[in-house]
Amino acid sequence: MIGHPETTIRKLQQELAAAQKKISELEKTLNSLNQPDSITSHIQTTLLEDISNLRSLINSSEDLIWFVDREKRILLANEATIAVFRQTRGIEIEPGMFSADFLPESQAGYYDQIFESALRGKTLRLNHTARTGKEYAATIQPVRKDNDIIGVSIFARDISQIHQLQKELKHFEQIIASTPDLIALVDKNYTYRVGNAAYLSAFNISREKLVGTHVKNLLGQEHFYNLSEPHLKKAFSGELTQFECWMNLTGRGRRFMSITYHPLHNQDLKPHYVVINAHDITDLRQAENDRQRIFDVSLDMLCVAGFDGFFKELNPAWQRTLGWSLDELKTKPWIEFVVPEDRELTLEAGQRLFHGENVIGFENRYLCKDGTFRWLAWSSYPDLDKQLIFAAVRDTTKRKEIEEELRQLAIKDPLTGASNRRHFIERASAELKRCKRYGAPMAVIMLDIDHFKKVNDTYGHSIGDEVLKRLVDCCLQELRTTDIFGRFGGEEFAAVLVETDQNAALQTCQRLLERVEALKIRTTTEKIGITISIGLTMHQADDISIDSLLKRADDALYKAKSSGRNRVVCF
Ligand code: GH3
Ligand code: MG
Ligand code: MG
Repeated sequence: MIGHPETTIRKLQQELAAAQKKISELEKTLNSLNQPDSITSHIQTTLLEDISNLRSLINSSEDLIWFVDREKRILLANEATIAVFRQTRGIEIEPGMFSADFLPESQAGYYDQIFESALRGKTLRLNHTARTGKEYAATIQPVRKDNDIIGVSIFARDISQIHQLQKELKHFEQIIASTPDLIALVDKNYTYRVGNAAYLSAFNISREKLVGTHVKNLLGQEHFYNLSEPHLKKAFSGELTQFECWMNLTGRGRRFMSITYHPLHNQDLKPHYVVINAHDITDLRQAENDRQRIFDVSLDMLCVAGFDGFFKELNPAWQRTLGWSLDELKTKPWIEFVVPEDRELTLEAGQRLFHGENVIGFENRYLCKDGTFRWLAWSSYPDLDKQLIFAAVRDTTKRKEIEEELRQLAIKDPLTGASNRRHFIERASAELKRCKRYGAPMAVIMLDIDHFKKVNDTYGHSIGDEVLKRLVDCCLQELRTTDIFGRFGGEEFAAVLVETDQNAALQTCQRLLERVEALKIRTTTEKIGITISIGLTMHQADDISIDSLLKRADDALYKAKSSGRNRVVCF
């Protein structure tokens, strides 16, 4: 560390004075006592030691120090001085040199004049810019001995770095002064030491008044005890702290501020100051609030999910739709809420997202808390940097149900629930192809209610409808689930018995005749029974389409009718 030049000079002068005093005391003693030679040499040694201590003190200084005598010749120059002249001018400074020997002519004259005035008792301070661009602050003053001026001392300090720092400091000061952030410095007593223009105007206080004001008095008791004090305590213990709060600012009104307390460390010591920085985030907060409001009121489910398999953020629509609380949804991996049958497809869609692909229109089923499920349609966008998936999700259960209803309407007979003719033929054709490929046996039957017209005529159309429904239930119970059954029109039905040979088919038809005959249908007055007639045919190699089979079965049915009804005929 370099001390202040004045201090260094004073110290050296004191040392010099002490040494001179010692010399003169010793000289006096020496003269008065006329000591023997051995004592004289002892005193000389002590003297030399003192001088050498002084010399090393001067040499250890980073300042340039040199002395000139009354003739302005160099008496002594320290190492720093010698090094500078060696480097800049290639001159070795030695005692006895005049200014002109190591300085350019113009400078030498100038310095000689200064030395003259120092020799007349004046102390001079001047700044000197060297050819190297370095700046020096020099002090030139007389060296006295017993009230006589015996020479001049020159102390010069390199202040280039200090200047640079001062310039930078000015620059920072300008930045701090012009920022809209509120910046202030607070000391350990929680009183302000300085505040920038924004701080002063926010509290409508002058710079002079702010300095020395206690934080409590400026911000108010409530703010101080609830927020400032606990955070200041933390900051003075060396921890950077941050909080957000509303503040009333002069001219700006109620603003939402993000406030940071930076401890100002003094090397390893505890901080002596804390810098308060208050940043206005009202607009940001407003935008966040707006976003949150949209998030909360959205009918669609919105979510942010992590690549780690967990939901991070969910809007209330999730709970409304699935019944799970948002916490329940966040604590288990999201895949566990997917209906097990849909998990594989869901994980595949997840893989696409992890590779940076947007997944739009993907649908899967999510489990509800009540054990049911909902269909969800996803529009998902991954963020690979954040390892997050942003998704807007729509509950499509209602749409799916309507779609399914429409599908059923398209393939089912609305009265009995049996497949309609078109759907029956579609499925029967597919089955015929399969049978041909595998050479499997296949039976086709046509059946028709006997004297159904009479039922309608006697008991009314609604009883007729009831008969049709009961007949369908009876047939579906008797046939296997793999068999195909459909309403062909009116009171005429058809069935395909898969993997069934003629004997087995005949047995099934016989059982059907018996089961139908046993049916009892309640009317307002009595219980009635019905019978059916069945035409049966087996698939043959030359059947190229289902039509020929149906035609043969129909012919067999006609035969069953004409030969007495309530029977099966096989063609
Ligand atoms: P057969 O023994 O020769 O088959 O005599 P049938 O009276 O059953 O034959 P027919 O074809 O003459 O009569 C069929 C009747 O089926 C005519 C019609 O009123 C009735 N029918 C057709 N579709 C429906 C329906 O959806 N509901 C009701 N209740 N009756 C129907
Ligand atoms: Mg008929
Ligand atoms: Mg009939």
